[in-house]
Amino acid sequence: MIEISDVVKSYPLGEGEVVAVDHLSLTVEAGEFVAIVGRSGSGKTTLLNLLAGIDRPTSGIVRAAGADLGALSESGLAEWRGRNVGLVFQFFQLLPTLTVAENVMLPMDFAAKIPAVRRRDRALELLARVGIADQAGKLPAMLSGGQQQRAAIARALANDPPLLLADEPTGNLDSHTADAVLEVFADLNTEGRTIVVVTHERDIRSIVGREIVLADGRIITDDDVVTT
Ligand code: ADP
Ligand code: MG
Repeated sequence: MIEISDVVKSYPLGEGEVVAVDHLSLTVEAGEFVAIVGRSGSGKTTLLNLLAGIDRPTSGIVRAAGADLGALSESGLAEWRGRNVGLVFQFFQLLPTLTVAENVMLPMDFAAKIPAVRRRDRALELLARVGIADQAGKLPAMLSGGQQQRAAIARALANDPPLLLADEPTGNLDSHTADAVLEVFADLNTEGRTIVVVTHERDIRSIVGREIVLADGRIITDDDVVTT
């Protein structure tokens, strides 16, 4: 599902540069649930943005969900992303003037993968799937943080993407709500979806199958988690 080889991402800084991702290689098989952990500034967000084709590497190859991202144009990347990647962020990033259901329908309208006549029903099904069917007609501001993140997960599932990428999805939630949101990801993984989640949750190892620790843009450890 993911294969990145010798990827470097550097940003200019004054006279020099910051190397955010430093000759990193990584393979993730379809169906894996992977946590990426590491201190602030270790390169987690940069790595996720490279996987999502939001950023391009300075050098190296990124393959994800069937595409060599370096071979795609900007519009090709946007189309690939819309159909193949679900993104979840720390601050939800729902559009405030659209209802929750409309937020979930929006990626379907962009990608045109789901037939137009199916989109509203599908949005309601996805909201039911994440446990907030009763919030569909409300504006995002009327929802709790946990409910907003569930809505964002439903939106990420809009086009039935094989790959879900989440950048600190529980970073703005209390610990009880965070656990519930991580359970949603665990269920989605059980159904076969590949998930990469950046997180600071302490007990993430009880949920994921693999934990990768980043420091200074490199992989420090990469462990299969043995669940007993
Ligand atoms: P993390 O998500 O683990 O906190 P980031 O990927 O955001 O780490 O950042 C990794 C490093 O790259 C940091 O040193 C950060 O300051 C730098 N960095 C990230 N994005 C940019 C950018 N757009 N411009 C310049 N430096 C950046
Ligand atoms: Mg980050």
